[in-house]
Amino acid sequence: MARSVLVTGGNRGIGLAIARAFAEAGDKVAVTHRGSGAPADLLGVRCDVTDADQIDAAFAEVEAAHGPVEVLVSNAGMNDDTLLLRMSEDQFTKVVDANLTGAYRVTKRATKGMLRARWGRVILISSVVGLTGSAGQVNYAASKAGLVGLARSVARELGSRNITANVVAPGFVDTEMTAQLSAERKKEILAQVPAGRYASADEVAAAVQFLASDQAGYVTGAVIPVDGGLGMGH
Ligand code: NDP
Repeated sequence: MARSVLVTGGNRGIGLAIARAFAEAGDKVAVTHRGSGAPADLLGVRCDVTDADQIDAAFAEVEAAHGPVEVLVSNAGMNDDTLLLRMSEDQFTKVVDANLTGAYRVTKRATKGMLRARWGRVILISSVVGLTGSAGQVNYAASKAGLVGLARSVARELGSRNITANVVAPGFVDTEMTAQLSAERKKEILAQVPAGRYASADEVAAAVQFLASDQAGYVTGAVIPVDGGLGMGH
């Protein structure tokens, strides 16, 4: 049966690949954007995840069109990289607010409906650097590590209601986020990846599809790496 799926930041990059995979599987898919609009084949709802009122309005719009959200993919994220000693408190809190507190806000809003339905899937998009750490990304890595604790706590709180909460931790994926890296930095990163290449956004989407499936009903509180082996052992 077609499910109501919401992908935050699903208007481009990894989120768009995730949204398209659900749409191709026949689900009713909505994506958030912050004003740039969404591709015509998806329901676009305007929402900045740092604003609880905008989240509430976006969910109301999705509920009216597709019914309560049954699968939430919290994918919206940003980075603002610099070394710790140069990182202002504002740079730290801004990234944590979007990546971690934003995930808390949308998860809280989505699970209300999931509890009523006694079924739900929460999938948070973290990063390999949340587990390994990353020089120049104290704010980003901390926010991505926080998603693991968030998902595992939700898994414990809501597990008995058929609601799973899991994390997908991608390695390096070719998107606008990684386009900012210098050619030299990209070469250094690739040298560390056993697979010897970047991931495609579709490879991240495939892991999300599995976690959202009925077959994954007994997988909860897990961190699924899609990183070509970069983070092995974590
Ligand atoms: P992009 O920079 O290509 O896209 C980021 C998306 O997040 C956009 O849709 C953007 O919306 C949205 N977004 C950012 N801030 C907010 C906000 N405050 N409220 C709502 N939406 C917001 O990133 P990617 O596709 O590369 O990344 C997607 C996710 O995957 C992120 O969480 C990222 O941290 C994670 N990730 C990416 C990796 C990579 O190598 N690319 C590796 C590991 C994890 P808008 O269009 O409105 O700006």
